[in-house]
Amino acid sequence: MTAKLIDGKAIAERTRAGVKALADEIKARHGITPGLHVVLVGDDPASKVYVGSKEKMAAKAGFNSVVHRLPATTGEGELLALIDRLNRDEAVDGILVQLPLPRPLNADRVIDAIDPDKDVDGFHLINVGRLSAGRAALVPCTPQGSMILIRSVLPSLAGRHAVVIGRSAIVGKPMAQLLLNADCTVTIAHSKTADLPGLCRTADILVAAVGRPHFVRGDWVKPGAVVIDVGINRLEDGRLVGDVDTEAAMASAGAITPVPGGVGPMTIACLLQNTAMAALYRRGLPLPAVIA
Ligand code: NAD
Repeated sequence: MTAKLIDGKAIAERTRAGVKALADEIKARHGITPGLHVVLVGDDPASKVYVGSKEKMAAKAGFNSVVHRLPATTGEGELLALIDRLNRDEAVDGILVQLPLPRPLNADRVIDAIDPDKDVDGFHLINVGRLSAGRAALVPCTPQGSMILIRSVLPSLAGRHAVVIGRSAIVGKPMAQLLLNADCTVTIAHSKTADLPGLCRTADILVAAVGRPHFVRGDWVKPGAVVIDVGINRLEDGRLVGDVDTEAAMASAGAITPVPGGVGPMTIACLLQNTAMAALYRRGLPLPAVIA
């Protein structure tokens, strides 16, 4: 068997087109232009690239796209004052603080200061709680995008065994929660898990969010499984690879995401989706069922 490659680039493009159509409708019906404000502190090169893409894609979706670029020396008080101003600004629907923050800024305190209804990264404790309680929440973008990719090849998730490798607050835990909310039976694996290869071989859906190149071997994959590779790892020769040995896994997987071109493009698409949803939700306006 050779796995179907899940085309994250094409699916992300469709999601972004859906968001653009929704933004146009919000403008026409309610006279609102969704506003996304991204806060970048310091000059981490990778963060600058990510923020640049977010800025460009938000503008392309028809949003008011604003980036607040602050020096690495910015104090916590100054940053919290900016967030307070954005929280109170009616024209701002989404606030995203690009992580990691330079030291000694405390990311938890900064994220907790964001109005939960504008927290388009879905990292605020209120949104973490809403998601785990199964309520309407702003959901972290990478796991949300991964769910769209899974559903593109597996419409019915109920009763499937999903194994998520990685338990970070940004990817692993919300991923597991979304799969659980979709009626999967979920196992979260991490660095202390015993017999990880054996566990992975029982997974109908295998999500790798570890941050180690080619960590998941081909013979860990159950025949026909859907494999979602969240990892982004740069090799010494400059190549970007995921956490899965894709070539080997393709022999047994039913479907698999490539790196690059799999989960990566979905993250910004879901950020835009969250911003459009926040623009409606904050004002008590009806939400569309699904965009993608
Ligand atoms: P993290 O370092 O916070 O978490 C890694 C997890 O892997 C930890 O929970 C740890 O327990 C687990 N782990 C480490 N070694 C292990 C082992 N030997 N066996 C089993 N589990 C092990 O990383 P993260 O922020 O969750 O990111 C994971 C990967 O996803 C990284 O490569 C990151 O670059 C990538 N990522 C991609 C996107 C995207 O947009 N595609 C977004 C966020 C993160």
